[in-house]
Amino acid sequence: MFPIVEDRKYRHKLWVDVRELCVKYIISVEQVKRFFEGLSEGKVYATRCRKCGEMYFPPQAICPRCRSSEVEWVELSGEGKLLTYTKIYVKPKSFSHYSDYVVAVGRLDEGVNVTAWIDAKIEELKPGMRIKLVVVKRKPEGYLTYGWRRA
Ligand SMILES: [Zn+2]
Repeated sequence: MFPIVEDRKYRHKLWVDVRELCVKYIISVEQVKRFFEGLSEGKVYATRCRKCGEMYFPPQAICPRCRSSEVEWVELSGEGKLLTYTKIYVKPKSFSHYSDYVVAVGRLDEGVNVTAWIDAKIEELKPGMRIKLVVVKRKPEGYLTYGWRRA
Protein backbone atom coordinates (compact mmCIF):
# COMPACT_ATOMS: atom_id res chain seq x y z
CA MET A 1 0.00 0.00 0.00
CA PHE A 2 1.17 3.49 -0.88
CA PRO A 3 -0.42 6.87 -0.32
CA ILE A 4 -0.90 7.24 -4.06
CA VAL A 5 -4.00 8.72 -5.66
CA GLU A 6 -4.91 9.52 -9.21
CA ASP A 7 -5.22 13.08 -10.49
CA ARG A 8 -8.80 13.45 -11.78
CA LYS A 9 -7.90 15.60 -14.78
CA TYR A 10 -4.81 13.85 -16.17
CA ARG A 11 -5.09 10.53 -14.35
CA HIS A 12 -1.50 10.96 -13.22
CA LYS A 13 -0.42 9.14 -10.10
CA LEU A 14 0.21 11.52 -7.19
CA TRP A 15 2.04 10.77 -3.96
CA VAL A 16 -0.03 12.34 -1.17
CA ASP A 17 1.52 12.20 2.25
CA VAL A 18 0.80 14.42 5.21
CA ARG A 19 3.33 14.98 7.92
CA GLU A 20 4.16 17.83 10.19
CA LEU A 21 7.45 19.56 9.50
CA CYS A 22 9.55 21.39 12.02
CA VAL A 23 11.82 23.99 10.46
CA LYS A 24 14.77 25.15 12.49
CA TYR A 25 16.62 28.25 11.35
CA ILE A 26 20.29 28.67 12.09
CA ILE A 27 21.40 31.93 10.56
CA SER A 28 24.68 33.70 11.19
CA VAL A 29 24.19 37.16 12.64
CA GLU A 30 27.90 37.79 13.08
CA GLN A 31 27.95 40.69 10.60
CA VAL A 32 24.91 42.38 12.15
CA LYS A 33 25.51 41.55 15.83
CA ARG A 34 25.62 45.28 16.61
CA PHE A 35 21.88 45.31 15.94
CA PHE A 36 21.24 42.76 18.71
CA GLU A 37 23.68 44.47 21.08
CA GLY A 38 21.68 47.64 20.44
CA LEU A 39 18.38 45.98 21.36
CA SER A 40 19.97 44.88 24.64
CA GLU A 41 20.84 48.55 25.27
CA GLY A 42 17.31 49.69 24.39
CA LYS A 43 18.42 51.09 21.02
CA VAL A 44 17.38 50.26 17.48
CA TYR A 45 20.04 50.48 14.79
CA ALA A 46 19.96 50.65 11.02
CA THR A 47 22.92 50.62 8.66
CA ARG A 48 23.85 53.29 6.16
CA CYS A 49 26.08 52.64 3.17
CA ARG A 50 29.14 54.92 3.29
CA LYS A 51 29.49 54.72 -0.48
CA CYS A 52 25.98 55.49 -1.79
CA GLY A 53 24.28 56.77 1.38
CA GLU A 54 21.34 54.36 1.31
CA MET A 55 19.93 53.44 4.74
CA TYR A 56 18.68 49.96 5.56
CA PHE A 57 16.37 48.53 8.13
CA PRO A 58 16.65 45.71 9.01
CA PRO A 59 20.40 46.37 8.89
CA GLN A 60 22.41 45.09 5.94
CA ALA A 61 26.11 44.23 6.24
CA ILE A 62 26.52 44.62 2.48
CA CYS A 63 24.67 47.32 0.54
CA PRO A 64 22.16 45.63 -1.81
CA ARG A 65 22.27 48.72 -4.05
CA CYS A 66 26.01 49.16 -4.69
CA ARG A 67 27.46 45.99 -3.09
CA SER A 68 29.76 47.95 -0.80
CA SER A 69 30.58 46.42 2.58
CA GLU A 70 31.48 49.83 3.97
CA VAL A 71 28.41 50.39 6.08
CA GLU A 72 28.03 52.40 9.28
CA TRP A 73 25.65 51.84 12.18
CA VAL A 74 23.04 54.54 12.74
CA GLU A 75 20.96 54.70 15.91
CA LEU A 76 17.37 55.34 14.91
CA SER A 77 15.35 58.04 16.67
CA GLY A 78 12.32 55.75 16.70
CA GLU A 79 10.19 58.74 15.72
CA GLY A 80 7.91 58.14 12.79
CA LYS A 81 4.45 58.17 11.31
CA LEU A 82 1.96 55.43 10.64
CA LEU A 83 1.55 54.55 6.96
CA THR A 84 -0.80 51.59 7.19
CA TYR A 85 -1.82 48.69 9.43
CA THR A 86 -3.82 45.51 9.59
CA LYS A 87 -5.10 43.17 12.26
CA ILE A 88 -3.98 39.56 12.04
CA TYR A 89 -6.74 37.09 12.91
CA VAL A 90 -5.44 34.07 10.99
CA LYS A 91 -1.90 33.44 12.14
CA PRO A 92 0.89 31.23 10.93
CA LYS A 93 1.10 28.08 13.05
CA SER A 94 4.23 29.27 14.84
CA PHE A 95 2.30 32.40 15.93
CA SER A 96 -0.87 30.55 16.85
CA HIS A 97 -0.25 30.99 20.61
CA TYR A 98 -0.56 34.78 20.29
CA SER A 99 -3.82 36.67 20.60
CA ASP A 100 -4.88 38.54 17.47
CA TYR A 101 -2.32 41.28 16.84
CA VAL A 102 -1.94 44.43 14.78
CA VAL A 103 0.93 44.86 12.33
CA ALA A 104 1.88 48.35 11.18
CA VAL A 105 4.07 49.83 8.50
CA GLY A 106 5.57 53.09 9.69
CA ARG A 107 8.04 55.51 8.18
CA LEU A 108 10.80 56.66 10.48
CA ASP A 109 11.83 60.31 10.28
CA GLU A 110 15.16 58.99 8.93
CA GLY A 111 13.22 57.86 5.84
CA VAL A 112 13.11 54.08 6.22
CA ASN A 113 9.92 52.03 6.46
CA VAL A 114 9.58 49.49 9.25
CA THR A 115 7.01 46.70 9.45
CA ALA A 116 6.40 45.55 13.01
CA TRP A 117 3.70 44.73 15.51
CA ILE A 118 2.09 47.79 17.02
CA ASP A 119 0.99 47.84 20.65
CA ALA A 120 -2.35 49.56 20.12
CA LYS A 121 -5.98 48.77 19.46
CA ILE A 122 -6.87 49.03 15.79
CA GLU A 123 -9.60 51.59 16.60
CA GLU A 124 -6.90 53.95 17.97
CA LEU A 125 -4.93 54.01 14.73
CA LYS A 126 -5.08 56.47 11.88
CA PRO A 127 -2.64 56.77 8.96
CA GLY A 128 -0.37 59.77 9.41
CA MET A 129 -0.43 59.69 13.22
CA ARG A 130 2.87 59.85 15.08
CA ILE A 131 4.18 56.52 16.33
CA LYS A 132 7.39 55.41 18.00
CA LEU A 133 9.61 52.41 17.36
CA VAL A 134 10.80 50.91 20.63
CA VAL A 135 12.55 47.82 21.95
CA VAL A 136 10.02 45.31 23.27
CA LYS A 137 10.21 41.93 24.93
CA ARG A 138 8.24 39.31 23.02
CA LYS A 139 6.14 37.18 25.33
CA PRO A 140 6.12 34.35 26.19
CA GLU A 141 9.48 33.71 24.47
CA GLY A 142 11.21 36.52 26.36
CA TYR A 143 13.51 37.68 23.58
CA LEU A 144 14.03 41.30 22.62
CA THR A 145 12.73 42.70 19.37
CA TYR A 146 11.36 46.01 18.11
CA GLY A 147 7.80 47.19 17.84
CA TRP A 148 5.68 50.25 17.30
CA ARG A 149 3.61 52.06 19.88
CA ARG A 150 1.57 55.26 19.86
CA ALA A 151 3.78 58.34 20.30
ZN1 LIG B 1 25.59 51.48 -1.28
